[in-house]
Amino acid sequence: MIGSGATAAGMGHIVAMDDSEAQFALTRYSQQLWQELRPTLPDDVEYEQCGTIWVAADDEEMAEVWRKHDYYGKRGVPTQVLDTEALIRHEPNLRAGMWGGLLVPEDAVLYPPCAARFLMERAQEKGARLRLGAAATQIGQGRIRLTDGLEISAEVIVNAAGASSPDLLPGLEVRKRKGHLVITDRYQGFVNHQLVELGYLKSAHSVSSDSVAFNVQPRRTGQILIGSSRQYGAEHKEVDQEILGRMLQRAYEYVPGLKKMSALRTWTGFRAATPDKLPLIGPWPGDKSIFLATGHEGLGITTSLATGRLLADQITGRKTEIPMEPYLPSRATKEFAHA
Ligand SMILES: Cc1cc2nc3c(=O)[nH]c(=O)nc-3n(C[C@H](O)[C@H](O)[C@H](O)COP(=O)(O)OP(=O)(O)OC[C@H]3O[C@@H](n4cnc5c(N)ncnc54)[C@H](O)[C@@H]3O)c2cc1C
Repeated sequence: MIGSGATAAGMGHIVAMDDSEAQFALTRYSQQLWQELRPTLPDDVEYEQCGTIWVAADDEEMAEVWRKHDYYGKRGVPTQVLDTEALIRHEPNLRAGMWGGLLVPEDAVLYPPCAARFLMERAQEKGARLRLGAAATQIGQGRIRLTDGLEISAEVIVNAAGASSPDLLPGLEVRKRKGHLVITDRYQGFVNHQLVELGYLKSAHSVSSDSVAFNVQPRRTGQILIGSSRQYGAEHKEVDQEILGRMLQRAYEYVPGLKKMSALRTWTGFRAATPDKLPLIGPWPGDKSIFLATGHEGLGITTSLATGRLLADQITGRKTEIPMEPYLPSRATKEFAHA
């Protein structure tokens, strides 16, 4: 099914991120492509430009607010520094005693499965043919073999199988990184922005241990989506009560009122993680018929449109809008070999 992998499990936060220049360039470019597409998005995509507030719980995190404010400002992304009072005015249900926050008003949220369906329909209008119900078992040398026995020949094959992409290219350095989410009943107006703790950066950066971070999102329905966790080496999709408990505990520390809410559903999904935290977009050096669009970890909804654009530009030989080198799969064979 279209959008059946991590896309169906993710949060749909469209966010400009500054972990590295390359990550910023890709997320911001893609965010702008989402803004361009916005007037054509159907209602069920639920695109809402609610903004992000990065919440600072101590002075160290407040220093990070100012650093981020400076970084984004220099690159043309509007932000607003909130002191304690302004933060509580924006989000009255945050616990008292926070140091402040950074509001990034152009960040948005959307509902990924409907966005994926919409993009697929547009591709079909332009002549794409969709074939569901048979997985690829082998790709390469301009041929794709499917589980139903069919073989398709193609000049260009794009491996966009997310966390399963190494199944089709053994040796590809993409690992599953499991995440949990919880969705509540409807509590309209309880949270107004995507709220993320600044400590989130520490947990998202950790490349080994399990981690949880406070990250909540208001849905148009009034529901609140609560995240998030990150785990390597947990390859079963069952909910892990221990990590779920830790994740909710973290959320209660920031928004105590969440404790009283009813949760409707809990689920997990697998991010496709690369060692250098950047996606793999472009030709695969081992086989000239194969291109990659994978390894987007926790940013693949944000960066989906830029990924499509960069890939199309590379395949057709057009000049790319942003430098494509940081995302080229050829780095995987050079750098990762020494990682
Ligand atoms: C808990 C969680 C929260 C997240 N939150 C956010 C967020 O807020 N913002 C954001 O930008 N990103 C977020 N992400 C990341 C985002 O969801 C992913 O990066 C993105 O969905 C990846 O899309 P994809 O199309 O590459 O992979 P997927 O959505 O996993 O799609 C891969 C597709 O390939 C298909 N497939 C697999 N193997 C085969 C095969 N052999 N043959 C044919 N087809 C195959 C699968 O069926 C699937 O449809 C989150 C992820 C998780 C898990």
